[in-house]
Amino acid sequence: MFCPFCSHSETRVNDSRLVAEGMQVRRRRECLACGERFTSYESAELLMPRVIKSDGSREPFNEEKLRSGLMRALEKRPVSLEGLEGVFARIKSQLRATGEPELKSRALGELVMAELRILDEVAYVRFASVYRSFQDISEFKREIDSMGKSKKKRAPKKRPSSTKRVGAASKND
Ligand SMILES: [Zn+2]
Repeated sequence: MFCPFCSHSETRVNDSRLVAEGMQVRRRRECLACGERFTSYESAELLMPRVIKSDGSREPFNEEKLRSGLMRALEKRPVSLEGLEGVFARIKSQLRATGEPELKSRALGELVMAELRILDEVAYVRFASVYRSFQDISEFKREIDSMGKSKKKRAPKKRPSSTKRVGAASKND
C-alpha cells in the first residue's frame, strides 16, 4: 500500500499480528522513502446485510455509525480498545452469519446490546437507553432489574437506602 505521508509505493512490514479475535490482521509498516511508520488493518470483506429502518426504508450497514455508537457507550469505561474491537468484530460476524440480505434495525440493536451486556454493564445501559429512547421505560427497568438478579440472588425486598454511612447524623439538636 502507498505511504499515507509521501505516497511512496513501497513500504516494509515490521510487525504483523492477529487482532480482534483473529478477525483482523494489524501490520506495522514503515515507508522505504520517508521512513514514517504507520499501522494498517486488514480484514476479509464480506457482504453485510442492509438495515431496514423502522419507517421501512433501507440503508447500507454503516460500520462507522456502529463504531461511534459503541465508543459513545464505552466512553470513560475501563474497556480496552481491543475489547471494543472484539465486540465490533463479533457483531459483524454475527450479522454475516445470519445469511440474510436484510435485517431490521431493531435486531441489530438487540445484537449490539447483547454484546455490550457481556462486555460492560454500564456501557450496555447507556446504549440501551439511547437505542430505546426511553420509549418503553417499564421494559428498560425490567432489564436493569434482571441484571441485578443475575449477579446476586437476593429476594427483591424493599430496603431503606442504607448504602450511605449515617454516623454523622445528629439526633438531638
Ligand atoms: Zn513515505
